[in-house]
Amino acid sequence: MTTDNITTSSNFIQNIINEDLKNNKNNGNVYTRFPPEPNGYLHIGHAKSICLNFGIANQYKGLCNLRFDDTNPSKEEVEFVDSIKEDVHWLGFDWENREYFASNYFDKIYDCAVYLIKEGKAYVCDLTPEEIRETRGTLTEPGTESPYRNRSVEENLSIFTRMKNGEFPDGTHVLRAKIDMSSPNLNMRDPIIYRISHTHHHRTGDKWCIYPMYDFAHPLSDAFENITHSICTLEFEDHRPLYNWTIENTKVESYPQQIEFARLNLTHTVMSKRKLRRLVEDGYVSGWDDPRMPTISGLRRRGYTPESIRDFCERIGVAKNNSTVDMALLEHCIREDLNIKAPRVMAVLRPLKVVIENYPENQVENLEAENNPNQPETGSREITFSKTIYIEQDDFMENPPKKFFRLSPGKEVRLKHAYIIKCEEVIKDEKTGDILELRCSYDPSTKSGSDTSGKKVKGTLHWVDASNALDAEIRLCDRLLAEENSEDETTSDFISQLNPNSLEVLSTCKVEPVLKNANSGDKFQFLRQGYFCLDPDSTPDKLVFNRTVALRDSWAKAQK
Ligand code: ATP
Ligand code: MG
Repeated sequence: MTTDNITTSSNFIQNIINEDLKNNKNNGNVYTRFPPEPNGYLHIGHAKSICLNFGIANQYKGLCNLRFDDTNPSKEEVEFVDSIKEDVHWLGFDWENREYFASNYFDKIYDCAVYLIKEGKAYVCDLTPEEIRETRGTLTEPGTESPYRNRSVEENLSIFTRMKNGEFPDGTHVLRAKIDMSSPNLNMRDPIIYRISHTHHHRTGDKWCIYPMYDFAHPLSDAFENITHSICTLEFEDHRPLYNWTIENTKVESYPQQIEFARLNLTHTVMSKRKLRRLVEDGYVSGWDDPRMPTISGLRRRGYTPESIRDFCERIGVAKNNSTVDMALLEHCIREDLNIKAPRVMAVLRPLKVVIENYPENQVENLEAENNPNQPETGSREITFSKTIYIEQDDFMENPPKKFFRLSPGKEVRLKHAYIIKCEEVIKDEKTGDILELRCSYDPSTKSGSDTSGKKVKGTLHWVDASNALDAEIRLCDRLLAEENSEDETTSDFISQLNPNSLEVLSTCKVEPVLKNANSGDKFQFLRQGYFCLDPDSTPDKLVFNRTVALRDSWAKAQK
């Protein structure tokens, strides 16, 4: 996405609103809503819509409602309502007492349908769903009028009432708006506005066995709430004439304006709730909040902050054309935020034991380690150093290539906050040849902060003291999809594109003892490794961390 695109695009909705305000449309009010369907957890695409709707309301000193679009009872659950509320709050937005449900309006929506019937603008149709589809016509051919189209108002009212009273099985009748079977817009060819569904509703129970269609319920809900700007995604552009028709023909008092913007697509992940649900239900992930999921709860568990997500939504802007944003941008945003905020500690992911041969047995000394160079006011902590420590397996090579500045036989490196050590001997398993431990020496004159040796070494390694290091499990989360994008809805088999290495669990990690006091959700930079967040799966005996993001974007390189 070019900068150009961002500047123009972030303005197009504001331009519309500015123009409206100039004309004193809606008496100068700006009233928006975020209307999730409670059939899954919110994802990063919803975050874009939340930031936009609440952001616009804030900017214009207006209001934004939270409205659950619960007109489709078969897939909706209370669990989803609760999670949505938690996630919107966590993102930093507040709907105050304006929490609404489309189901609260079922009586009023029903009245609007009855009004349409009385006006001769809606009729009960007995065609089967297949017949309705077949008579709808195509983009190039008009549809055919239903044989039930000219039923009398009385007959329509009578059957519609009986539908409401539960006298007919599902699928036997629908209520259709009487608009225009030859409209070039298929949505205007006598769309269904009510259907029979004997389904228990999570809020209205068994009161209703007919439910309004989204295209009918949505504009009416907006109007009932006096919404001025009904912001939705581009796929509803073709539905706008029906939105307006509904407003114009039902005698509602306000006239919300539908404005469409491009939905967010991200590389290396899926966003449709149907797909996310499949990942959860078929066990490809541990739940909606699996740290690999693009859900708000997954991102939160992974260590993303609300600030980083809002920053991301700001940067991607709002456009009129669909595009796909690189996951690397989201990762960049969390890196920037945590670089400022996250305390630094040392953790060894794949430990290699190092015995410092010339260090006195049983001696333990305290060293000072700064907590965060970007926040000097957070001070420092004490870490210990003793005869046995762990370093990263990767930081040692027996036969290193030329530019390897880490540890190798006979070479020196600095241990962060501690001393320069030299590798004296490699101890191996006699049978397998595996490296078991290193024997090193340290130079007492090289203590960090008071180094009098004048020695220069190129490599500095992180490490932990074996005498008090804590055991930890570290989950290296990576991208869900190996390929950039499968959001193309025609490629149904996104399962085959799942990245087989999206989760690597390291269970023998060693971390600094200071982490004993960490709380679930706390975030840290593990020096040289990346940003990590304490997972709720942690127990007193074993800390569990998720890697939020590595320090640098290594993905692009690794794929080339
Ligand atoms: P899905 O197709 O994944 O089920 P949806 O659009 O049906 O998503 P809703 O719960 O109906 O999900 O969406 C609530 C609001 O969030 C809508 O206004 C919708 O336009 C917006 N939204 C959903 N997905 C995105 C996205 N990827 N980018 C921007 N806005 C989105
Ligand atoms: Mg939807």
